[in-house]
Amino acid sequence: MRIDLHTHSTASDGTDTPAELVAAAAAAGLDALAITDHDTTAGWAEAQAALPAGLRLVRGAELSCVSPDGRGGHCTVHLLAYLFDPDAEAVVREYARARAERRGRLAKIADRMAADGFPINSETLLASVPEEATAGRPHLAMALMRAGVVSSVDEAFARFLNDRGRYYLPSSRTPIEASIEMIDEAGGVTVLAHAFATHRGPTVTADVIKELASLGLGGVEVDHPDHDPDARKRLRTLADDLDLIVTGSSDYHGTNKVISLGQETTAPAMLDELSRRATGVAVLTG
Ligand code: AMP
Ligand code: FE
Ligand code: FE
Ligand code: ZN
Repeated sequence: MRIDLHTHSTASDGTDTPAELVAAAAAAGLDALAITDHDTTAGWAEAQAALPAGLRLVRGAELSCVSPDGRGGHCTVHLLAYLFDPDAEAVVREYARARAERRGRLAKIADRMAADGFPINSETLLASVPEEATAGRPHLAMALMRAGVVSSVDEAFARFLNDRGRYYLPSSRTPIEASIEMIDEAGGVTVLAHAFATHRGPTVTADVIKELASLGLGGVEVDHPDHDPDARKRLRTLADDLDLIVTGSSDYHGTNKVISLGQETTAPAMLDELSRRATGVAVLTG
């Protein structure tokens, strides 16, 4: 069994449509795939309709949150939410707000780059992101590529768009405690994404994860391309201590990142546990 529980489609900042994503998962020999676009469930229906025979689909989302960092400050964290009711009112309201705010924020970043002479236009940029999709920096990175400023999305992040860069603005973030509660109430299960990926920016301490577990956090993503062996080891130990679900996933974004589907995987018993705990929507079988 090969299970990948964290992937993106064109409903956010991936390059495969939801239909292409499930087809690629089947082609890659996966048995189960989660679609986890940033702050949206917009890709679920298309992925479901295109689900190849034999592939299991876990419907989810990756929510941008702000969390205490355990050192007296705050930092951005990503919360994977699985199998929640996509029509739950609080969830719908919060993430419609988040997506609207993300568009404004991306336009601001683009305007700041344009003011510095980059051949970028925020209106053209936003017009390139479908209305129902979640706008993010990768869309700007692709625009910079099209304009010939950089030759890859990675280069755009390395030179201009990373969190420490001069054009960076944080995206809309929901307090993590509120997101965990909201997803709980919508019958879903939450898993903290790439919690110890230090090169992405500031991260939370183990004490924070312990606190989040007491609030209902269901699991931690241990095997992730951005985690080094030491980070994985510390997270696995923590998950053991706190009785949390352990997942492994690629965080595939299509051609926006040099990562392949199924590059990291989740143990079948962990998916069973996740599915057992969820009451929002079921795991689908194609
Ligand atoms: P945003 O949601 O606008 O804050 O942008 C964050 C997204 O950018 C992440 O979800 C990744 O998809 C992508 N990203 C972050 N760092 C890099 C990088 N170094 N190279 C390529 N994509 C990245
Ligand atoms: Fe992304
Ligand atoms: Fe993430
Ligand atoms: Zn992701």
